[in-house]
Amino acid sequence: MSRFDNRTALVTGSSRGIGRATAERLGAGGALVAVHYATNGDAAQEVVDTILGNGGRAFAVQAELGVPGDVDTLFAGLEAGLKTHNGGDVHLDILINNAGVMGGVPPEETTPEQFDRLIAVNTKAPFFIIQRALTLMPDGGRIINISTGLTKFANPGELAYAVSKGGVEMLALHLARHLGPRGITVNSVAPGITRNDNPVFGIPAAVEQMAQLSTFGRVGEPGDVADVVAFLASDEARWITGAFVDATGGTLLG
Ligand code: NAP
Repeated sequence: MSRFDNRTALVTGSSRGIGRATAERLGAGGALVAVHYATNGDAAQEVVDTILGNGGRAFAVQAELGVPGDVDTLFAGLEAGLKTHNGGDVHLDILINNAGVMGGVPPEETTPEQFDRLIAVNTKAPFFIIQRALTLMPDGGRIINISTGLTKFANPGELAYAVSKGGVEMLALHLARHLGPRGITVNSVAPGITRNDNPVFGIPAAVEQMAQLSTFGRVGEPGDVADVVAFLASDEARWITGAFVDATGGTLLG
């Protein structure tokens, strides 16, 4: 038996970065994984192929989040994929709300449109994805929302982004209480600076500077965070709910 045998999982934003690493771990552990993406279908298919190549099961689902009808689009694709790949059994055991957009705009210059977009993608979409997912989730399910260390570490240039992630952390606190009787756990995972496709990771001097924020003296790799997420998705984490899990590599130690 593997860790996630007979489980189904949705990882939003898993065409790249932390989401991709998480989808690959869940797939390697035996889960049927829905690899969600917004724009990069080729990258999502590459993730699906990697999981299939390791003997796992996966399919891709496209939906832009933060626009009207986003959750309907996502679940139409998810349910169709589950029906096809899971013998007609449409249920969801594990939900990882990972897709997100960054800000990078000083507080004085943040526009209402930029603010609305951050909230729509990072906060509102996870809320309503959970609402819909719960109609498919059996007792004992797992919900993990990806936050950021910036809810506990001041960086004024990311204020609006941090506000959007502060909101997502409320989902774990309140829904953990609400869903405890069903054995469903809800937790937040907060990455620190983690390598992704941002060009800044191609500038050695910038990477060296960012690395100093971690007590380990390096930037995070997607797998550093994905291992934590996979643990919280597993049976071994059944007694953890409503938690803020610091996966910043010690950045919050000060
Ligand atoms: P990433 O490499 O930038 O990838 C983002 C993923 O989200 C992609 O799969 C992208 O899909 C999808 N996505 C973006 N906007 C979307 C939208 N509007 N609708 C649907 N999907 C969308 O991500 P990452 O850096 O690994 O970050 C993952 C999560 O960790 C995010 O929530 C982020 O806020 C959080 N986080 C990251 C860091 C960091 O340093 N990297 C630090 C703290 C927290 P397509 O590529 O197909 O468009």
